[in-house]
Amino acid sequence: MPQKIYLSPPHMGELEQHYVAESFATNWIAPAGPQIEAFEAEFATYVGADHALAVSSGSAALHLALIELGVTTGDEVFVSSLTFAASAFPVLYLGAVPTFIDCEATSWNMDPALLAAALADRAAKNKLPKAVVLVHLYGQCADIAPIVALCKQYGVALIEDAAEALGATYKGQSPGCFGEVGFYSFNGNKIITTSGGGMLVSNNADLIHHARKLSTQARDPFPHYEHTEVGYNYRMSSICAAIGRGQLQVIEARVQARRQNFDYYLNALSDLPGLTFMPEALWGRANRWLTCVLIDPTKFGASNEDLRLALAAADIESRPIWKPMHLQPIFRESQVFGGAVSEHFFATGLCLPSGSALTTADLDRIVSVIRSVKPPC
Ligand SMILES: *Cc1c(COP(=O)(O)O)cnc(C)c1O
Repeated sequence: MPQKIYLSPPHMGELEQHYVAESFATNWIAPAGPQIEAFEAEFATYVGADHALAVSSGSAALHLALIELGVTTGDEVFVSSLTFAASAFPVLYLGAVPTFIDCEATSWNMDPALLAAALADRAAKNKLPKAVVLVHLYGQCADIAPIVALCKQYGVALIEDAAEALGATYKGQSPGCFGEVGFYSFNGNKIITTSGGGMLVSNNADLIHHARKLSTQARDPFPHYEHTEVGYNYRMSSICAAIGRGQLQVIEARVQARRQNFDYYLNALSDLPGLTFMPEALWGRANRWLTCVLIDPTKFGASNEDLRLALAAADIESRPIWKPMHLQPIFRESQVFGGAVSEHFFATGLCLPSGSALTTADLDRIVSVIRSVKPPC
C-alpha cells in the first residue's frame, strides 16, 4: 500500500535544525530573544513591512489587530464570507458583530462592488463598521486597490488576512502591507510553517509596539509586575521562530513547487468535461497554496463529494472548499451582502493535495483516481 497523501503537510528545508540548534546552544528557548527578533526582521524585509510582531498563531495576530483598531463590544466588522472561521472568530472574542461580504468569481475573494454597497448602506444609516477583514484566499490576492480606496473614502480601517497568501503578490507587492495592519499564519498546513505561529505586520510603529505589550501580558515598565490593561500570552517561542527563519529561506521554492502542482493538475486534467480550476487574477501571482477545482456533476459524471470519497478510498486527502461563514451555524445571526457566489463554490468545489513536497508519482496517482471517477469522453 503506498503512503497516504495529505492535503498540505509541513515541508522542512535545510536550515531549520541549524537555527533550532543555535537556540539550544545559546539557551534561548523562551518566547523572547534573538531568534524571534531575527525572524521578525527577516520577515518584515521579505514582505516589505516596516514592523513585525511574531505571535503564537494567526488567530492571535488577528485578535491583537482588532484590539489595536479599537474594536469592542457591539462594533460591526466586515469580513470576507468565503474563508476559514479563524478570519471571523476573533471578532466574536471582542463581543463585536461580523457582517459577511461575498466573493467575486474572478479571484474568489471579497467583491469590491459588494463592499461598496455594504459601506454605502452603513453610511446612510450613520453606522459605519469599525474595520474590514479582507482575506486573500487559497494564496490569491483580492483586488486590493479598490478595497483600499473604499476603506479610505469611508475612513474604515483595513486588516488583511494573508494567512494563506505568503509569497503571493498584488501588482508586485506582498499582500498584508496595504491596510493599517496585516497578518500571516505559520500553522502546520500553511505554505511555510513554524509548527504553529503567526505574524502581525504594520507600517505603524506605535501599533506594533502596543500589540507587542499586549502579547506579553500587558506589563507596564516597572521592576515589579504592574498592569493597567488586559494582556495576553500570545508571544511566539524561540524554537518556533528558529524553524520560521529556516522556512523563510525557502519560501520562493515552496511557491514554485505549489504553482507546479497546479500546472501539473491543469495539464493532466483540463480535457475532462465539467472540471474547472480556480482562476489566477491578472493583478498578481497566486502562491497556489491549495489547488482548487469546481465540478459540474452533470458534465463530469460525478460530484465533488464523489471525487473526495474516491480519493479518500485511495488514501488521498482532499477537502471541500471552505463553507462560507454566512452559512455557519455559529454566525447565523450575522448579515451577509451577496452570498450566491461562495455558496456555489462550496457546493461544487474541492481542494486537491497541494503540498510542496509532492512527487510526480504522487501527482500521477492522484490524477489517475480523478480520471477514473469518470473516464474521459
Ligand atoms: C489559517 C488561517 C487563519 C488562522 O491562522 P492560525 O495560525 O491557524 O490561527 C486565519 N485566516 C485564514 C484565512 C487561515 O487560513
